[in-house]
Amino acid sequence: MRFLRAALFIAPLAASIQVDRTGRQTYDGYKVFRVVPDRATADLEAQLESLSAVELSCNHGHADTQHFDVAVPPENLEAFAAFNYQAEILSEDLGADIALEGELQPFPGLETSVPATNAKAAAAAALPSFSWFSAYHPYADHLTFLKSLQAAFPSNSELITAGTSFEGRTIQGIHLWGSGGKDSKPAIYYHGNVHAREWITSMVVEYITYQLINNYSNDTAIKTVLDNYDFYILPIVNPDGFLYTQTSTRLWRKNRQTRSGTSSVGTDVNRNWPYKWDGEGSSTSPGSDARNLNNNRRYRGQAPGDTPENTGIRTFGDKLGAGKGIKLYIDWHSYGQYILTPYGYSCSAKAPNQSKQDTLAKNTGAAIAKIHGTQFTTGQTCSTLYATAGGSNDYFTDVTVAELAWAIELRDTGRYGFVLPADQIIATGEESWAGQKYLWANF
Ligand SMILES: [Zn+2]
Repeated sequence: MRFLRAALFIAPLAASIQVDRTGRQTYDGYKVFRVVPDRATADLEAQLESLSAVELSCNHGHADTQHFDVAVPPENLEAFAAFNYQAEILSEDLGADIALEGELQPFPGLETSVPATNAKAAAAAALPSFSWFSAYHPYADHLTFLKSLQAAFPSNSELITAGTSFEGRTIQGIHLWGSGGKDSKPAIYYHGNVHAREWITSMVVEYITYQLINNYSNDTAIKTVLDNYDFYILPIVNPDGFLYTQTSTRLWRKNRQTRSGTSSVGTDVNRNWPYKWDGEGSSTSPGSDARNLNNNRRYRGQAPGDTPENTGIRTFGDKLGAGKGIKLYIDWHSYGQYILTPYGYSCSAKAPNQSKQDTLAKNTGAAIAKIHGTQFTTGQTCSTLYATAGGSNDYFTDVTVAELAWAIELRDTGRYGFVLPADQIIATGEESWAGQKYLWANF
């Protein structure tokens, strides 16, 4: 009897989803663990799924660093313990960590534009307040912020769009150029927030944009890079998913695409690129979580390139490749502190300029570390982090060729993970800026 009671007590429960007064899922009492796999991966994944654990990140790179980071709901903490994993605790309360992210701050709005009669035709508005980088912001405010940046650099920038999301949102960005005029130089192309929950990525991409504009006329190194390259910057390439993380489920990863034949929602846009799409490192299943709340499978889609978001950003990138070419492509992610070079699909394949890429990545990591001491691990995606299929940097290495095609995983290494406190945004921007400045001066 006693045994039976104990067994029942630790059986995993279907976790109930708690929501706050605005309808957002709370993660109060969830604990975050780093689990070192000591059993077959399939068994481990099935067990974690039975616990309604939210999969955060995994690292399959080296035997000594393999791990899964998972958030376990409070009702299954005992059942988690009963599985007797080799695990360390990363966070005692994910809900408390999310509170540290702070409230979403509205943006005060576009600066009043200078009347054309009273100024040069292209008079610049002031740059938006730097206090933007002290908080996270609602999706709509990111669009206003981009407009505001453009207005501050009117002769050297324009707003751009790269297709439409599944739910019909325009994927928006900004294009910056220098003295040669627009579209006259090879491209530097950045994507942020392809994974919805990686909020720091759009903030950092915006920080870099802000500093490019702010320093163009007073820093010769910045003038040089902008005069020699056209920047195409898309801070949020997965707007539906991003919005969903703000209104419903903070830890959502994928887009919000529905498909016939499944109740599961969402495809991983960064496993959907039509190159080496069906290899190791993506999921063929849209997920089994019928509630779709914590479903973070790396689902690759039914066919290569079949997400509207991928179609939009790929078409945009292909056009850049066919134009003046792409010098540098970076897909910005979090978390883990990695600078990742090709390839993801294979741990043995090498890009033609692999050693140059690896050296630059290593030195970029060193330039980042000089600012706040933040250590980045650098190396090839598959051997350093994990195998990926249908990932953007492989596409931009072999199909639409960028000379350098990287993924950067920003702060931190797991303590806060995706919910990096707002008071780390500026420091993350500063070190990322230093890394890019190094790269632009040396690539
Ligand atoms: Zn990511």
